[in-house]
Amino acid sequence: MKQTYTPKKAILLVRISDDKAEEARGVGRQEVDGRKKAAELGWTIAEVITENDTSAFKRRRVLLPDGSTALRTVRPGFRDALDKLASGLRDGLIADDLDRVARDPRDLEDLIDVVEQRNVPAIATTGSMKLDDDAGVTMARIMCSIANKSSRDTRRRVARTHLQLAEEGKPGGGGFRGYGYSRSGMEVIPEEAEAIRFMAERILDPVEPWALNRIAADLERRGVPTATGAKWSGRSVRSIVTKPSVAGLRAHKGEVVGEAVWSPILDRDVWEQVCAALAERAGTNDVSLKRWLTGALRCGLSGDMLAGWQGNHGPRYWCATPQGGCGRIAIQADRAEREVSAQVLDLLTKPRVLERLTALTTTSVTQDVRRELAEDEAQLKQLAGMWARKELTFAEYREARAIIETRVKESRALVHASAPRALRTLLAGDVRKGWEGLTPAGKRDVVLTLLPNGYTVGPHDRSKGNTFDPGRLKPRAA
Ligand SMILES: [Zn+2]
Repeated sequence: MKQTYTPKKAILLVRISDDKAEEARGVGRQEVDGRKKAAELGWTIAEVITENDTSAFKRRRVLLPDGSTALRTVRPGFRDALDKLASGLRDGLIADDLDRVARDPRDLEDLIDVVEQRNVPAIATTGSMKLDDDAGVTMARIMCSIANKSSRDTRRRVARTHLQLAEEGKPGGGGFRGYGYSRSGMEVIPEEAEAIRFMAERILDPVEPWALNRIAADLERRGVPTATGAKWSGRSVRSIVTKPSVAGLRAHKGEVVGEAVWSPILDRDVWEQVCAALAERAGTNDVSLKRWLTGALRCGLSGDMLAGWQGNHGPRYWCATPQGGCGRIAIQADRAEREVSAQVLDLLTKPRVLERLTALTTTSVTQDVRRELAEDEAQLKQLAGMWARKELTFAEYREARAIIETRVKESRALVHASAPRALRTLLAGDVRKGWEGLTPAGKRDVVLTLLPNGYTVGPHDRSKGNTFDPGRLKPRAA
């Protein structure tokens, strides 16, 4: 199936990601590189699709063709691209990195199907994958399976050492004692437990949640000692308060496997909320993320993604020439953010929008998941008991445990999903207050949920003088 066809209406797929390494190769950069690759190959790009691949919120329970449901990573941009390639509307695909786009082997197979059936090429800008002939397809399958296998192997290696202790719900040991507990890991140290509860309270403060650095500074100021005698830092606060052990949970493979033999310092529910709140905050130290419209604004002249930029007259979103933009469109960042905030709040008062959002965030999903999670964790304990009483062989025990652990892992991903939480916060009470309380990342998730294609920023009309013109911001059609 060697292809000689040169696409005349290809798709360029770019990704917004929370991954630090990828964030560095921002969306603007990906687009520049993709267009360069297209020019090299003589392809014509007809459409740029942006995948918002941030955080775990893309994991949803989906209905499979056979009627069963499963947790899958939903990639609307990738699916959209597949549909358009399958229907013949588009005739080629360029993406920054195909093994990132199609990380799941099931996604890769779907892409290969389309490539083979429609005889359209798909290629990675970085050259790491190239689905344009049989050899390329084979190589892609191998790389995808290696990527999957190597991460499984790493997990297995890490697991082995702590497996036995984890099964018994005993502490994992190690050089340092965990903050909050005595060296044996069994007794609660009251002063430290109090500090942990203080951390959780401040993080979950409904009026004014504290930054981790502020919590660290407060503990430092009050002379509360750390476990090692080192100074408090935002990092140490995060590490302490998100440990499953403080909720009386035993983890291995980085996943909670059941209740531990020691007493909890935080209620399970509180601990989960803390983890979710911090997961949502993750990445917000990034300057580019503080400018939360990054990834949601496009140049009205050249179509490039606008980037947050520190200009002479304060922060702006700019069609940045260093990132390959035309340089001709810029808009005041704070005014643009205020305007989009106003538009979002306006949208959120519309019943149809609310209905759609409520469907997206149905709390019943989370409640179901929580119940499943509790059941699975109880079952893990039961299994361990059955094995101890020799009602199961070790092989049977291992196999059963692996199945339940996979479910537990998936459930936890969903419970901690951050975007539905941002939306739930908004829908639960006063929309205006909820919006103001959102993190930059949360706001961006909400904007891109309401307006998946973001906004186009039109040119500044000089006849209107220097005043900010909200009319320059136009929601982009699908
Ligand atoms: Zn431009």
